[in-house]
Amino acid sequence: MSEKKKGLLVILSGPSGCGKGTVLHQVLERYPNGIVSVSKTTREPRSGELEGVHYFFVTKKEFEKSIKKKDFLEYAEYAGSYYGTPKTWVEMQREAGKDVILEIEVQGGLQVIEKCPDAVSVFLTSPTLEELERRLRYRGTEDEEKIQKRMKRAIWELNHMDVYKHVIVNDNVEEAANQFIAIMKKAHSAINKEENDLEREGGV
Ligand code: 5GP
Repeated sequence: MSEKKKGLLVILSGPSGCGKGTVLHQVLERYPNGIVSVSKTTREPRSGELEGVHYFFVTKKEFEKSIKKKDFLEYAEYAGSYYGTPKTWVEMQREAGKDVILEIEVQGGLQVIEKCPDAVSVFLTSPTLEELERRLRYRGTEDEEKIQKRMKRAIWELNHMDVYKHVIVNDNVEEAANQFIAIMKKAHSAINKEENDLEREGGV
């Protein structure tokens, strides 16, 4: 029996309000091999958010304990709260052949790009900064102070997008999801080609 191939590690970053969640929702509907990592956070749950589905909601003390135990693949502070990716779960899913998508902000994205050079990195952005602010306000999940914090951070994040291998402009959700799926399929083809080339070199 052939051995299960290890799945991809995919980073998806982009400023708050660019539509990462909506695009990912469409991606997962059409790309069953993809799975999104559930992070730990110290931020308060928003209405409708579920423990273990959207996040694992923990106290600052619990989060710091996980940092000490080196449980995170990466972690970062964002708008006054901590967010981190559980390392073991990600590795287990990849070993099982799943393509694991990390929906994380840029500080964390940069950590993963450095630690895992084979990670596929994607930056999603909205067509303009005005559109970003409009979407953030329309969502209605943050008060004015938090909107201002997130907009400031958005500008910082936009200045780092060229570190990512791929940039998608989210003009249309379906189109953005198509591009994201195409990037993952292309990454698989590149790995397969590399393996076939190696086999050919070693075998004949
Ligand atoms: P939100 O509070 O809107 O759910 O998330 C705020 C930001 O934190 C978003 O950009 C989101 O992608 C990012 N984020 C969510 N989980 C993680 C994580 O585990 N690590 C890092 N670095 N960022 C995360």
